[in-house]
Amino acid sequence: MELREQSIKAVRQQIAAKKISAVELCKAAFARIEKLADLNAFISLTREDALAQAQAIDQAAQSGAELPPLAGTILAVKDNMVMRGVKTTAGSKILYNYIPPYTATAVERLQAAGVIIVGKANCDEFAMGSSNENSAYGIVKNPWDTERVPGGSSGGSAVAVAAGMAMAALGSDTGGSIRQPAGFCGIVGLKPTYGRVSRYGLIAFGSSLDQIGPFANSVEDIAQLMNVMAGRDPLDSTSSEKATDDYVAALDGDVQGLRVGVPKECFGEGLDAEVREKIEASIKKFAELGAEIIEVSLPHSEYAVPVYYLIATAEASSNLARFDGVRYGFRAEEAYTLKDMYNRTRDEGFGAEVKRRIMLGTYALSAGYYDAYYGKAQQVRALIEGDFRNAFDRCDVIVTPVTPTPAFKLGEKTANPLEMYLSDIYTITLNLAGVPGLSMPCGLASNGMPIGIQLISRHFDEARLLKAAHNLEQATGLGFKPRAIEGL
Ligand code: GLN
Repeated sequence: MELREQSIKAVRQQIAAKKISAVELCKAAFARIEKLADLNAFISLTREDALAQAQAIDQAAQSGAELPPLAGTILAVKDNMVMRGVKTTAGSKILYNYIPPYTATAVERLQAAGVIIVGKANCDEFAMGSSNENSAYGIVKNPWDTERVPGGSSGGSAVAVAAGMAMAALGSDTGGSIRQPAGFCGIVGLKPTYGRVSRYGLIAFGSSLDQIGPFANSVEDIAQLMNVMAGRDPLDSTSSEKATDDYVAALDGDVQGLRVGVPKECFGEGLDAEVREKIEASIKKFAELGAEIIEVSLPHSEYAVPVYYLIATAEASSNLARFDGVRYGFRAEEAYTLKDMYNRTRDEGFGAEVKRRIMLGTYALSAGYYDAYYGKAQQVRALIEGDFRNAFDRCDVIVTPVTPTPAFKLGEKTANPLEMYLSDIYTITLNLAGVPGLSMPCGLASNGMPIGIQLISRHFDEARLLKAAHNLEQATGLGFKPRAIEGL
């Protein structure tokens, strides 16, 4: 059974009609996970719980009961979301033995809707990274070319879906960590509007930027997951009260008259020629489908990388203060005073990138520098948000690349953090503004690697975003494995 060819809807129907069994599907997923263990997509597996859940679904099907909307969906969960009784590390040594006493709301809602969770996906430590080379549990490899990165920080989640180990996955996106690995692995990923999906139970990185979102093989599957995940959660005060839409129903209809904005700043220097070519072909496709193409401008984009790396690191330095050896996880052994224990625990427990960010963030927040750095960054952030508002006065959806290049080689950028940070140039503006963005495949480079396109909409306009993406996907035929990753 090929998980990459199964839609969420079809799986539920086939289980209900008793044409396939959830247990069989679940076993096929674990066989695939074992076979592809070298990709290192998972930090831990939840085999027993998964099989028990699958059995319960089969029993419900046998009894003729109506199955919940996501019955039988094989799901991977990024290891920075807590699940009661399941080890959750956030890719860090400092949480190597942490067993949470509660479950993240997004995960809980999906569980209630019948998903089968096969395991916790590998990720960059505390979601800091663009290549999944920062995990304390080893690097993750791209299934299209195992010498290349899968993207980060939700690399394990993206690989699990792209390589057919799961039908869908949860990731988190602070500056691109869903959209970038989706692009590098040739699948679909959505960062919802800030506040659309509850962050309760997501281990915080940059709280004003973080958002949980889904990965899947098709836009329709993303809509199915959003129908369950989205909406107000009293446990997250930043989750929105705004009513959700029926995202699956929203896929119907064409894009006749849709105003597609193309920001000129995103097609300048540094963009790979093949990426540009594929994005331009997709824009042409939109025009053929009846959309109106409009040039727009996001004039403050050039400040996005420095602004993001001030705000994200400042918030991270504060969020990560709680990992001190007292409350959770790892504690250094050889320590003789309380302060010594804090110092050694954090020194031994955190990896290099996390330490770099804590230092940057602590510096930016320190007395005398706060206004010059964090305060100034917040002001420029407001300008970036204003850019989107102005652009959306003239268009409904914006199209940009996801990344300047397709997936790069493992080790290629690890020695140069600044170069690594620049790979987020097209994705981080959305987190700064809070608007939703979707990344989907739009073709292959001549070296065989997938190329992604990013679609952006107004706050809480996921319905229109998904509809546009669905139309493009249908027109290009790129839903469900753009190229079979054979031999794996
Ligand atoms: N690559 C970006 C960073 O390293 C974004 C990470 C993310 O979205 N979690 O901060």
